[in-house]
Amino acid sequence: MSYFRFEELLSGPIGLLTFDVPDKKVNTLSQAIMAELTSHVAQLEQRTDLKGLLFRSGKPGQFIAGADLNELGALIDATREQCQTAIAAGHELFSRVSRLPFPTVALVDGNSMGGGTELILSMDYRIASTNPATKIALPETKIGLIPGWGGTQRMTRAVGVHHAIEIICGGEAVGPVKAVQIGLCFDAVPADKLVDVGTALIERVVRSGEWKAERQRHSQPLGLSADEFQFAFACAEGAIKGKTKGQYPAPLAALRAIKEGINKPLDEALLIEQQIALEVTGSPISSNLISVFFMNNAIGRDPGFMPTTAKARDVKQVGVLGSGLMGAGIATAHARRGVPAVMVDVGKERLADGMKRTCKVIEDRIRISRATMQDMQEMLTRLSTSTSRSVFAEADVVIEAIPENEAMKTQAYSELKSILRDDTILCSNTSTISITRMAEAAPHPERFVGMHFFYPVDRMELVEVIRGAKTDDDTVATIVALAKRIGKTPIVMKDCPGFLVNRVLLPYMNEAMLLLQEGALMDDIDKAATKFGMPMGPIMLSDLVGLDTALSAGNVVSTAFADRAKPSSILADLVKAGRLGNKSGSGFRKLNKKGKPENDSDFAPFLERHRTDSRQFTLDEITDRMFLPMLLEATRVLEEGIVAEPHHVDMGLLLGIGFPPFRGGILHWCDTEGASAIADRLAKYVSLGKRFEPTDSITTKRVFFPRAKNVV
Ligand code: NAD
Repeated sequence: MSYFRFEELLSGPIGLLTFDVPDKKVNTLSQAIMAELTSHVAQLEQRTDLKGLLFRSGKPGQFIAGADLNELGALIDATREQCQTAIAAGHELFSRVSRLPFPTVALVDGNSMGGGTELILSMDYRIASTNPATKIALPETKIGLIPGWGGTQRMTRAVGVHHAIEIICGGEAVGPVKAVQIGLCFDAVPADKLVDVGTALIERVVRSGEWKAERQRHSQPLGLSADEFQFAFACAEGAIKGKTKGQYPAPLAALRAIKEGINKPLDEALLIEQQIALEVTGSPISSNLISVFFMNNAIGRDPGFMPTTAKARDVKQVGVLGSGLMGAGIATAHARRGVPAVMVDVGKERLADGMKRTCKVIEDRIRISRATMQDMQEMLTRLSTSTSRSVFAEADVVIEAIPENEAMKTQAYSELKSILRDDTILCSNTSTISITRMAEAAPHPERFVGMHFFYPVDRMELVEVIRGAKTDDDTVATIVALAKRIGKTPIVMKDCPGFLVNRVLLPYMNEAMLLLQEGALMDDIDKAATKFGMPMGPIMLSDLVGLDTALSAGNVVSTAFADRAKPSSILADLVKAGRLGNKSGSGFRKLNKKGKPENDSDFAPFLERHRTDSRQFTLDEITDRMFLPMLLEATRVLEEGIVAEPHHVDMGLLLGIGFPPFRGGILHWCDTEGASAIADRLAKYVSLGKRFEPTDSITTKRVFFPRAKNVV
C-alpha cells in the first residue's frame, strides 16, 4: 500500500508530495506511514535539481488528524524504551525534512493535529486554506503528553512564546486568519489556489534566497531577554498551576520544554524536548487520559442495547412540554443545532420566562465569542412557543420536562393521547421516576423512553437514554441519533432507580452527610473531594443543586436499595426549615452579599441535633468513605446489566458529575488501585454497614479495562 504520491510540477521543477491514506476518511501518522515518508525524504535529499517541495493532503478539507489511534492506544502499555524509540524516530525524520536542500511549503486544507502539525512545522513555510475546517493544533497536553516531535521548539520559534504557550499548553486550535496573524502561516487562500500560491512562493524565495535566512533564523535560540523570559514563564506557570491544580502534569511539562529550550540552539532544544516528552509518555495519568479519549470514541459508535437492524427515524420537529429550567434548555439545544422546536407551557408568562432563558444561552455564547447575532436569529426562527399542546400534532418527538411529580407527568401523557401522531416518540426528562412504570400512561409504551439531560443543558454533554421494559429498538435508535445530532453524548441504559449517574452519585453524597454527622468538618469533606479531583465537594454540590432536589432523589435511591442504604437525617431537617441551598440563600452554608458560599453559624444547631459522634477524620479516611460506596454502586450497575460495558459507567460519571478525567473514571480508578487493595480498604469500614460490603466484581478481582483492549 502506498500512502504518498510524488509528482513533479514542470515549473521548476517543483516537487509535489501528496499524503493520502487509501480507503480512510482521514490521514493519520502510523509507523508504516512514517517509514514510507522516510524513504521519500531519503530520495528528496538527493534531488538537488528540485527548486522546492509542496506538501499537501489528497483529501479535500482533511489534512492530518494526528497519530494513528491504534498506535496511540499502544502507548498505554509501552515500555520506556518503546516510548524513547518512537519519540526519537519522529525527531530524526522531521529534522531531515527541515534540512532538505530546497524550500519546503506545507499546503494545509482541513485539520492539522498533533504529529501532523509537527511535520508541517519542520517545513519552511505553511499556507492555510480559508476553509473554516482548517485548524492547526497541538492538542497533546489534553491526553497527558507533550508535542514530542519538535513541536514545543519549532512552534515557539514560529509564533513566539506567548502564542506558543496558548497553543501548546492550552491545546488551543488556530484557524487560518489567526495563523497568518501570528506568523504560523505565510498566507491563507482558497483551497483551490493553494498549489499556485505555494508555487509562486517557492519561485520568490528561491530568487531572493530568503528561505535560507529563515531556516537559519529558526535554528537559533529565540534570544529572549532575562526580563522577557522571567515575565512570560512566571505568568504562564501560575496560570497553568491554577488550572491544573497539580493533577495534570503535561501542560507544565510542555511549558518546561519551551522554557528550557527556547534560548538554546534548535538542535540542543530538541534534545531537551525529547527528555521531557519521555517523562510524561506512558505515565499513568497520560494512560488514563488516552483511555478517556478511546471511551469517548467508543460511545460515539455505541449502538446501546440494540441490534444493528434498529433504524433511527427522521426527526423534523421536536416538541418540548414545559419551558422551565430544563425545558427551555432542551428546546434551545435543538434549535441551536438546526432541529426546529416548539415549547409548550401552561401560561404566556411561563413561556416568556422560557424564551428569556433560551436567549440568555446564546447571549452568553456571544459574550465569549462562541456565537454571533446571526446564530441568535437562526435559533429564534427555529423556536416557537404555544400554550396549546395541539402544536405537538406536528412533532416527531415530544420531550416532557414538567415538574418531578409522577401523577402530574402521567396525567399529561394521558392528555397527549388524542394529540400525538401514532408514530410520535414521547420522552421524559425525569431525573428519578421509573420509565417502565410511567410508560403505562403513555400513548404507546413502546415509543416511550427516558431522555435525561443534565443542568445546565447548554454545557452538559451527557444525555442518559433510558429504555423502559417495553421501549422498542427504533425508538432508542432515534433518540440516540437525535442526541448526537444536537451535539450531546448519549449513553443508553436500562431503567433503574436513579438511572446511572444519580444512582452512583447519591451514595457518595449521602456518605458526606453521614460524615458530617459523625464529626468530620464540612470544609474537610469538600476538600477531600476536590483533592481527589472532583470539580466541587459534595456539600457545595448539594447547596448548588438544591437540598430539596437532593433529598427527593436520595429518597428514591435509598428506598429502592433499602438493604444497604443508610439515609442521613440532616437533609430533611434543613429542607423542612426552608434551607434549600443557594436558591434560598442558605443550606449547609449561606451565600454572602457577593453571592459566594460561606460557613454559617446558624447551621450549628441543625448539626448538633443530628450528631452521632464527634470524631476527627483524616482526609484519606473521608476520601475512602465517600468514594468506596460510589465505586461499589458503579460495580453493581454493571453487574446488574443496567449498562452494557464498563466504559459506559466511566463516561457517564466523567460527563455527568465531572469525575476527574486524569483518573480515567471510577472503574479505571478501581483498576489503578487494584481490586485487592480496594477490598482491604473496604474491610476497615464494613462494620459501618452493608454499603461497604465488597461486590462480586471486587471479590473476584475483576479488571474492568484489560490493557490489551485499549485499541479501537
Ligand atoms: P421547572 O420547575 O423549572 O419547570 C417546569 C415547567 O413546567 C414550568 O415552567 C411549569 O410552568 C411547567 N409546567 C408544569 N405543569 C405543566 C403542564 N401540565 N403542562 C405544561 N407545562 C407545565 O422544572 P425543571 O427544573 O425544568 O425540571 C423539569 C424536569 O426535569 C423534572 O422532571 C426534573 O426532575 C428534571 N430535571 C431537572 C434538572 C435540574 O437540575 N433542574 C436536571 C435534570 C432533570
